[in-house]
Amino acid sequence: MIRRFIPLVITCLALSGCDAITGADLTTTTPPVTETTPAGETSTTTASPNSTPGLAIVPTGGASLFAAPAGEPLQSVHEGLILPVLSTEGPWLEVMDSCSNVAWVSESQMQVVPRANPQSPGTGFDLSQSVVIVDAGHGGRDWGAPGPDGTRESFFNLDIADRLRDLLLTSHDVDWATGRITPGETYSAIGGAYMTRDTEGPDEGDFEAGLAYRAAMANSVGADALLSIHNNTGTDRTLQDPPRAVFYALTVEGSDRLASLIDEELFRSFDPFASEWQGSAIQGTASRMDVETGGDFYGLLRRSAVPAVIIEGVYVTDPTQNMLLQTTVFRQAYAEGVYRGLIRFLTTDEVGSVINEPVPFEGNVGSPSTSSCVVPEQP
Ligand SMILES: [Zn+2]
Repeated sequence: MIRRFIPLVITCLALSGCDAITGADLTTTTPPVTETTPAGETSTTTASPNSTPGLAIVPTGGASLFAAPAGEPLQSVHEGLILPVLSTEGPWLEVMDSCSNVAWVSESQMQVVPRANPQSPGTGFDLSQSVVIVDAGHGGRDWGAPGPDGTRESFFNLDIADRLRDLLLTSHDVDWATGRITPGETYSAIGGAYMTRDTEGPDEGDFEAGLAYRAAMANSVGADALLSIHNNTGTDRTLQDPPRAVFYALTVEGSDRLASLIDEELFRSFDPFASEWQGSAIQGTASRMDVETGGDFYGLLRRSAVPAVIIEGVYVTDPTQNMLLQTTVFRQAYAEGVYRGLIRFLTTDEVGSVINEPVPFEGNVGSPSTSSCVVPEQP
């Protein structure tokens, strides 16, 4: 394992040279959660991932969000939307909606997914009991990186995330010499792969979702990994190797190992497509430490209590890489690279060859207002 320290402070300008939206949410507070103590007293505390019971899925026909248990309904919520559960109070579940607001639902109206049993990665890991959150970056009015010809990062991310979810929910053999994935029994389907947005879900997956919501899904269900699928913007140099970057959560054990394995497998997936690439200084495993707080620069990674990575596959803004992203064969190769990296993370104690040290990062990233985020309503 090679470790490199890059004593570099980078100013990340909005919509140039970085994935602006991914890093946009600089809020450091965890949403307060109202809990009822055994004595019946109500207190406001910080959400603890270890006390959260799981996920609530809105069933066919939709459901209602409420301001408080047995309170006034706020709005209807679209069938298929997944709501992380923060706490319970009798028959009521305190949840976070897709705009990262806290609300309540009636448990009787929901399909509840229990929190996963904790497992340690390595030999003997039971994939059939594993839960993974697949996060398609951006969505709705938040396009992410804009590409030539009106293409959008958010759509590429969603398709790749769908493909990854499909891989995770079926059993496979993997030829580790070639990376080829075929139907087989060596690696069983995982117990649950839940997507923050999904082409089979509300608005065909094209809705805005908050970073706190995305992380809360992983924390509430006790996921074994949170995989956030992105593609990048802002090339400034020619590279010989594929330009992928895999950012790992600074403070969650295992995140750097997960990143290193996905990095290796993405390299294997992308390398056959070109011998020369446009890219930037950020390549391979990476992590950004906020110079002011010492915490993770990225809001999603900062909020995650489970091993988490933000994967920047290739550059949407580069015409050649954009053309690759428009092909199903490349998007499938992207998904397969992430799949192989995750399987190695969960079922072995391997570490990828390079884990780059965190880079102090002084960002000034543009952020869209969250005031117009809309929770998908049941039609
Ligand atoms: Zn992005």
